Amino acid sequence: MYKLKCLNCLLGGAIGDALGAPVEFLPLDEIIEKFGPQGLTDYAPSYHRLGAITDDTQMTLFTANGLLSSYVQKDLKDFVSIARTTKLAYKHWLYTQEHPYSQDLPAGINLKGPLSNAADLYHRRAPGRTCISALKSDSSLTSNDSAINDRKGCGGVMRIAPVGLLVTIYDAFQTGVEIAAITHGHPSGQLPAGVLAAVIRYLYEGLELPKALNQAITRLKTYKAHEETLNALNLAIKLACDRSVTPIKAISLIGQGWVAEEALAISIYCALNAKDFRQGVLMAVNHDGDSDSTGAIAGNVLGLIYGLDSAPSNWLENLELREVISELAEDLCDAPNWKINAQLAQPYPDDDLAWRKYL
Ligand SMILES: [Mg+2]
Repeated sequence: MYKLKCLNCLLGGAIGDALGAPVEFLPLDEIIEKFGPQGLTDYAPSYHRLGAITDDTQMTLFTANGLLSSYVQKDLKDFVSIARTTKLAYKHWLYTQEHPYSQDLPAGINLKGPLSNAADLYHRRAPGRTCISALKSDSSLTSNDSAINDRKGCGGVMRIAPVGLLVTIYDAFQTGVEIAAITHGHPSGQLPAGVLAAVIRYLYEGLELPKALNQAITRLKTYKAHEETLNALNLAIKLACDRSVTPIKAISLIGQGWVAEEALAISIYCALNAKDFRQGVLMAVNHDGDSDSTGAIAGNVLGLIYGLDSAPSNWLENLELREVISELAEDLCDAPNWKINAQLAQPYPDDDLAWRKYL
């Protein structure tokens, strides 16, 4: 059951991302003009194919790989900061954005795991400027200080779902905040990532969405400068309870999702309002704003809640990088059961060694 939850969460996010990719920069009236009165209802070509993922899924995968590296290395080398290891993974992502694929990587770019040699990741898919500039300007590979900028774009929250699939509920919120802080210095660029990581964790552990949200909001209120994120979430919850407001109107009242608190709130609104995965992700991409990011976040949440049964079969079949997404999702589920042996020369007899690829 837990493996399926991990798969549905990451594959659901990637599907939402791929649905939103062709309309990321289109206002709703142009989406309707192009695709008809229902708006976008299926994959449309983007990046020369159907089902192309964008930077949101790329970075989500690097989050997953970074977390798993940290998880394995933490057991083996005392304490390795999760944020620091994840930053190394993001440095690897940055390299994929600026160089052609090569097996000979420079010093410091040495992520181990399913992404270490994935040639298909060497594509620029409208990467967030803050993510690129923060990772470029931070020459430190080891510091885990917060990014020195005042940015609150959604690049911190759209990549955070794997945190909720691996990190325990006690640490999920703070870990989400720290990982968003690698690139985003503004509290509203970080706290929505904490909320999403906690919501994902509570859903993973079996809570229903309203209760998961309540718990995450209680935690949010303990942080300084939480008001902007709290207000956006409260508006989403209020609108989801008001059936006299159409989803299109409600989303426009929340915002466009370019900033983190709006992207989170739009996604939560869609998850609260929809009756299944398909309806919710289509709601999350048909609006004026950052459709692929809201599609990705809503897809993570809706996949966990409803599974992917309502998705047309071509959404999974045509999804780019489906195999590597699935491998990382399964490893996130399995990791807590890995018997990681600190004596590397003496593996456990029944150890399947799946964890060794992250060393
Ligand atoms: Mg994107």
